Amino acid sequence: MKALTYHGPHSVSVDNHPDPAIEASDDIILRVTATAICGSDLHLYRGKIPTTEQGDIFGHEFMGEVVETGKDVTAVSKGDRVVIPFVIACGECFFCHMQQYAACETTNSGKGSALNRKQITPPAALFGYSKMYGGIPGGQAEYVRVPKGNTGPFKVPDLLADDKVLFLSDILPTAWQAVKNAGVTQGSSIAIFGAGPVGLLSAACARLAGAEQIFMIDHHPYRLAFAKERYGVIPVNFDEVDDPAGLIIEQSAGQRGVDAVIDAVGFEAKGSLTETVLTSLKLEGSSGKALRQCIAAVRRGGTVSVPGVYAGFIHGFLFGDAFDKGLTFKMGQTHVHSFLPELLELIENGLLHPEEIITHHLPLKDAARGYEMFEKKQEDCRKVILIPGM
Ligand code: NAD
Ligand code: ZN
Ligand code: ZN
Repeated sequence: MKALTYHGPHSVSVDNHPDPAIEASDDIILRVTATAICGSDLHLYRGKIPTTEQGDIFGHEFMGEVVETGKDVTAVSKGDRVVIPFVIACGECFFCHMQQYAACETTNSGKGSALNRKQITPPAALFGYSKMYGGIPGGQAEYVRVPKGNTGPFKVPDLLADDKVLFLSDILPTAWQAVKNAGVTQGSSIAIFGAGPVGLLSAACARLAGAEQIFMIDHHPYRLAFAKERYGVIPVNFDEVDDPAGLIIEQSAGQRGVDAVIDAVGFEAKGSLTETVLTSLKLEGSSGKALRQCIAAVRRGGTVSVPGVYAGFIHGFLFGDAFDKGLTFKMGQTHVHSFLPELLELIENGLLHPEEIITHHLPLKDAARGYEMFEKKQEDCRKVILIPGM
């Protein structure tokens, strides 16, 4: 089969691999009909996740048709059309029972990150996310083996096109969890840093939850313009405004800052002094610029919700400010499974239209071009979908 394969930083191609086969009795094999490139794939693509190896198959946002099931699979059958959560969870452990699926303690036999090696168990395995997250081949491929076939695969109605349901695999529940973590209610004011797919869907979810004033911070005018038109955000271009947090505070009620902030940027380690220092120490570092702005823009007693991915140390984290303001921080990988039924219902009822952020459909064979375009934000790219059968 063909699959998107890593060769080194900024070097990927669609190569031949052996077809996946059932390994455990509760595995399924999926024929992928659609898969997306995520901001999280860019961390791997840029070579920022040290456990990424040549030959790794990427991809954790995918859906398709069940073509084979292990003998203990009862939840789905051959021919079912399913979306796969990017988090692989057993459904049976301490954390799964609490619906903290991303903390599942049984699916990742890896050692966790170098910096949290004291953890007793690493977090859940993820598709296509290197050895650190279980070393499970990803779904930017014609076929993929899906472990935990009784827990993960989520059946979707035939009436809904792939574009409408594909993002249930990751970015829609991620945005939903970010908004819930931010405590958004009727009349809330929020600021969302990052107008990528996660930020945009966070704006959609925040509107649905009743947010009244939504600031959105980025420096790609085409992304900000889309968010303004579609979700009525107040755009803030950080190339034009020296201090986005200052502007947000000025324009917020009572000039106190917003009720909550969402960091949909994550680590941007590229070229910063911190990166240079930490690289010399063989540690992964990040500038954490968006996070510092988040802490500045939120009001006292407010919440900082962080769906953006961080790794290792971050630089200049204003913990003193966070303490003085009495802030709450909520973050982490998304507990995808727990949000799927309610999100599917919102899509079916026409209250969420996640497909509207898609700008490109490419055949899987052109995946390398998709990565380049998404990373460099070329062609007004918001979200790229790869179609193996195209
Ligand atoms: P993306 O790269 O398309 O979007 C990030 C956006 O942030 C870009 O538009 C960029 O211009 C903007 N940006 C960069 N620096 C900024 C700054 N200082 N202030 C404001 N904006 C800034 O990626 P995406 O797909 O939207 O993903 C965003 C983040 O969410 C990534 O870190 C990704 O790994 C993470 N993510 C986390 C989960 C989870 O489970 N928690 C799931 C999916 C994605
Ligand atoms: Zn993703
Ligand atoms: Zn579990």
